[in-house]
Amino acid sequence: MSSLRFKAVEEAFKKKALCVTAPSKFTSDYYGKYVFNNATMEKYLSKDTLKALKNVINKGTTLDLAIANQVAAGMKLWATELGATHYTHWFQPLTDGTAEKHDSFIDYVGAPGESITEDFSGKLLAQQEPDASSFPSGGIRSTFEARGYTAWDPTSPAFLMDDTLVIPTIFISYTGEALDMKAPLLKALNAVDKAATEVCQMFDPNVKKVVAYLGWEQEYFLVDEGLFATRPDLSLTGRTLLGHESAKNQQLEDHYFGAVPSRVAAYMKDIEFEAYKYGIPAKTRHNEVAPNQFELAPIFGECNLAVDQNLLMMSIMKKVARRHGFRLLLHEKPFAGINGSGKHNNWSLGTDTGVGLFTPGKTPEENLLFVTFLATTLMAVYKNNALLKASIMTAQNAHRLGANEAPPAIVSAFIGTQLTAILDKLEGSTSEEAIILDDKKKLHLGIARIPEVFLDNTDRNRTSPFAFTGNRFEFRAVGSSANCSSAMAVLNTAVAAQLIEFKAEVEAKMAAGISKEKAIFDVIKDYIKASKAIRFDGNGYSEEWKVEAAKRGLDCETCVPEIFKAYTSPESVKLFTSMGVLTEKELHARNEVKWETYTKKIQIEARVLGDLAVNHIIPIGTRYQSFLLDNVAKIKAVFTGERAEKLSALDTALIIEIGERITAIKNAVDDMIDMRRTVNKIDEEFEKALAYHDKVLPYFDIIRYNTDKLELIVDDEMWTLPKYRELLFIR
Ligand code: ADP
Ligand code: MG
Repeated sequence: MSSLRFKAVEEAFKKKALCVTAPSKFTSDYYGKYVFNNATMEKYLSKDTLKALKNVINKGTTLDLAIANQVAAGMKLWATELGATHYTHWFQPLTDGTAEKHDSFIDYVGAPGESITEDFSGKLLAQQEPDASSFPSGGIRSTFEARGYTAWDPTSPAFLMDDTLVIPTIFISYTGEALDMKAPLLKALNAVDKAATEVCQMFDPNVKKVVAYLGWEQEYFLVDEGLFATRPDLSLTGRTLLGHESAKNQQLEDHYFGAVPSRVAAYMKDIEFEAYKYGIPAKTRHNEVAPNQFELAPIFGECNLAVDQNLLMMSIMKKVARRHGFRLLLHEKPFAGINGSGKHNNWSLGTDTGVGLFTPGKTPEENLLFVTFLATTLMAVYKNNALLKASIMTAQNAHRLGANEAPPAIVSAFIGTQLTAILDKLEGSTSEEAIILDDKKKLHLGIARIPEVFLDNTDRNRTSPFAFTGNRFEFRAVGSSANCSSAMAVLNTAVAAQLIEFKAEVEAKMAAGISKEKAIFDVIKDYIKASKAIRFDGNGYSEEWKVEAAKRGLDCETCVPEIFKAYTSPESVKLFTSMGVLTEKELHARNEVKWETYTKKIQIEARVLGDLAVNHIIPIGTRYQSFLLDNVAKIKAVFTGERAEKLSALDTALIIEIGERITAIKNAVDDMIDMRRTVNKIDEEFEKALAYHDKVLPYFDIIRYNTDKLELIVDDEMWTLPKYRELLFIR
């Protein structure tokens, strides 16, 4: 075996699980220890300050400097007691992940150079100016007006990371445009709160607030770090660009819910301890379908906070993996031929009166409310199916969607047979049959009670990108490395707009003299009918579905750069601007960033692939070919005639095959490089991304196909790159 690979595999086999012990016997002893949460605030802030801050958080009142100063002082005291020396504004740029710039608390007392003190004012808490010029903005800021600033998001609690007080913030330009993922999410959540509250008030005037909830399920792969280090494709692009599938992979389905290997179990324990310290309610851990694939899911929470927690969790998971001699792979498709990783976004809405709006009701009137929100959501998903797809699309996720284990690249909704029957029944009824006013003058559904069975989640369809699962919708198309903000901002905005439309339609009917009950029912019925095309309970992987979906007018585009265009369609511009979530200028700027990112990702992969092909694969092929040629020469030196021909026939065939494969690889690499030279000259971001998709990407398949075939014939000892069986089955 090639020495580097051999060493790495040997080391990986020898590794033992780390012994991890809990910080305390009870999780509740250390839960939220590093979060400036309610309990901590009560200790470090005065009653009045806390009350004022609560108003800012819950009622959206403006924060005055005096309060900010008080909060900053309390935060600093808490953080420094735990060893903090620095603080940072933590934000979510348009690229993946999070960004931060650390400043220490120190400042001069009096004249410069004399003595220092630790200082943290309300102004520093509320606002910071990172040098924004190197973050993508899609041209909103040209470099000479590079100033942008981060502003504190008091709805997501500050926390302590090592020696740094971390303050969740939004990131905006001086002219007010959002340069991040959080700002539009907060606006979308605000919009859905307002719209949903107003609709709820048609049923129950006591409802004053509706909260959007998110429960994410984070899938991931672990790879031994020694093996990772010997795969330049994994370390530079997060996925394997080459590699024949292992003889055994997931076909026995023996990994899902199987016993967790001890090294991984120790890792899982460790990330949970960390999660708890940060108040992240990690609940579920298990193996996933593919070998070396796992999942972590917390209990759901308020959407904005859940998004921040997911981002924090991803970075914790990355960091802790190193401690255990692993590398964490969050890429959506690190290995070809086996499942990729997603991040199901379980989404629901709930009122401040304790009603889950997607929970089939305990009371009949709640059921009408339930059907209202169900039909409105289906309508919103139907109208915005192309946009929802755009919200989860990236260069990486494109490899996962449509592959035979993830949702297809067509957004449809699955609601199960029982709910379908109920909607069908409603569609065929008159308002007199369907809606009943009881003796207490409360309106409710006259049709059969919605069965409790829903809550069992029995009726599941794994192929659906947007599935109803008992008390929530599960948006499954979201990618494992994604910032959930993107999908959540679009979904909540779309539903908010539809709820507003719903209310307006009902009111218009009422103004025309129709009773409220009948008006509500009529609009629901219209929505059930109009959004039917989005409902699909069959096999999302089938070829028939692609044909059928196109017939239904659903968006079937698979080209990533084209998919992004859904953000700037006239309907989407109207949606985002009317909901106050993003302006037209911001939408266009964001697409510029998306196209640019897409191009860069493919460009980096193309470079790595070219390097691997030319500097690893072709030399290996040549070396083995030369070995075979040598053998043929020796056979011919010893034997003659027919015997010599016979004995050397196999080697000769292999020599020819290797020659053909390496020629094909080299030609494809050369052509790919030429093509990149050509398309790099394109200025316009969309055209360039499209050219990378149409003209550069196709070479990947040719190079991979021939390389993977070579892997099958070349002497195992000569092969330098760890193989799939090694990457996937060593723990
Ligand atoms: P499965 O893998 O079967 O989908 P999991 O238990 O892994 O289920 O994940 C379910 C996720 O859904 C959890 O994060 C859970 O907290 C979340 N969830 C449950 N109820 C709701 C709800 N009403 N709103 C949002 N998320 C929810
Ligand atoms: Mg799930």
